[in-house]
Amino acid sequence: MNTDPRLRLSPSAVNEYNNCPQLYKYRSIDRLPQPPSLDAERGTLVHTVLHDLFESLAKDRTPTTALDLLPLRWAAQVSAKPELAELISNEKEWLDRAGSLIRTYFTLEHPDTFEATHREMHLENDFEENVYLHGYVDRLDIASTGEVRIVDYKTGKAPKPGWEEKALFQLRIYALLYWKNSGVLPRLLQLIYLGDGKIVKSNPTIAQLESTEKILHHTALDIFTSIEKNYWPPKPSRLCDWCFFKTICPAHVS
Ligand code: SF4
Repeated sequence: MNTDPRLRLSPSAVNEYNNCPQLYKYRSIDRLPQPPSLDAERGTLVHTVLHDLFESLAKDRTPTTALDLLPLRWAAQVSAKPELAELISNEKEWLDRAGSLIRTYFTLEHPDTFEATHREMHLENDFEENVYLHGYVDRLDIASTGEVRIVDYKTGKAPKPGWEEKALFQLRIYALLYWKNSGVLPRLLQLIYLGDGKIVKSNPTIAQLESTEKILHHTALDIFTSIEKNYWPPKPSRLCDWCFFKTICPAHVS
């Protein structure tokens, strides 16, 4: 149980609050339980396989190795969360779908040609006196030249043109954390979309990271105000159709 009284900010918490303060309240303040989501569980499975792939020698990081890992890691996931077994009506179809995402990964990167310096790297920072900022980076590669690349895998599709900046916000928070902690400005941010085989790349600048930092300070202030006034306005959007709390949300219950 977390006993840290500080506000814990992460990229997902910041996005959640900015997308819908009411949803943030349900999840982060009230900590209401939610059933497992199949999309999230598929994401976890694919992330685990891509994480563990780099345990192998470079020459063995092949599609076959990754696809062989898939049923093993899925069995471990179900063993840790037995209720998952009931949610999957056709396990073969489920694993085939995850397998196709893994195959797509190999069309985008050649993991036998580089080493992943860090996987599932936890970055944290005492951002303000009452704010702890943290996040888990899927992969952080440091080249022999010292250049840093931050990589995040997504099992969905790439954003439509014009929406890349919103998607890159999460990686800019990681870049900010890394820069603040190490003094090194990452050279490249890379979002790998396995849903449609696309990559979004960006070279972060100091101005962008300073702007990200400002947004985080504003968001923290807004959350403190919401807590003080117990004011959590719902922001209805197309996300409501996927929101587990729709049946209790004031925007939808009259
Ligand atoms: S149903 Fe929509 S408005 Fe209500 S909490 Fe969920 S996302 Fe927010």
